[in-house]
Amino acid sequence: MLHAHSGEGADGGQRCGPQFTRRALIGGVVGAAGLLTVGSSIRDGAMASEYPVGPPYPAFRADAPQVYTRAQWNARSPKRAARILDRPPDHIVVHHTASANTRDRSLVHAFGLSRQIQKWHMDGNGWNDTGQQLTISRGGIVMEGRNQSLAAIRAKNHAVGAHVLHHNQHTIGIESEGTYTSARVPRRLWDSLVEVCVWLCRAYNLEPAEAIVGHRDYNSTTCPGDVLYARLPELRRSVADRLNGSGGASGSAGGLVTSIFPSFDG
Ligand SMILES: [Zn+2]
Repeated sequence: MLHAHSGEGADGGQRCGPQFTRRALIGGVVGAAGLLTVGSSIRDGAMASEYPVGPPYPAFRADAPQVYTRAQWNARSPKRAARILDRPPDHIVVHHTASANTRDRSLVHAFGLSRQIQKWHMDGNGWNDTGQQLTISRGGIVMEGRNQSLAAIRAKNHAVGAHVLHHNQHTIGIESEGTYTSARVPRRLWDSLVEVCVWLCRAYNLEPAEAIVGHRDYNSTTCPGDVLYARLPELRRSVADRLNGSGGASGSAGGLVTSIFPSFDG
């Protein structure tokens, strides 16, 4: 979740205590409600021209999802550039933002979410920048989080973030928008989560069965919520299927997983 993660550095003082959790929830709901107003006031037609996708932005590739850059969501400059380690992370940590389960799937909303998270992390938590390396909106829109994350992934390096207390040096974090304590995970978010994990496992040569974990596996927190956490075995299998070339072209839509869990996203 957003606030309860680690602070900067491996021994940052931030803790996942109840007080912190409560504040994060309140901040999340208020923040997302504010964003809803902004997003709903702009029509879909305006977005395409406002945020063109093309050079110099990354395009769709067979082996990587479309990831919107910090420039595209208009990130602030970090207080300090991310530390780059000349080695890959060994785990992928799945989070939920613990913010509202909005129905807004738009690009405008997603970009607003990224700006709001950066504000929470820099102004609220006092961190150098957005904590996590990647963010996925409920509409399945994937965005760069911490500065230099995309460049680091491409170079098979690690841009150190702030998302898991004591484990930031060796983990890459994905924030999934929403609160999944009881709500189901939107299909578009799920499909993008699969795509992102396939991409990261390929880039870093990771074994999904071992590499993909939830925040609660490291820290005392409910993140990423019981519902999303319960689906991590399915996520590992879907990613493994895709890496083995047997999972179809659209993540969990392909193959065995759908027939085992027919009701999840129905
Ligand atoms: Zn978390």
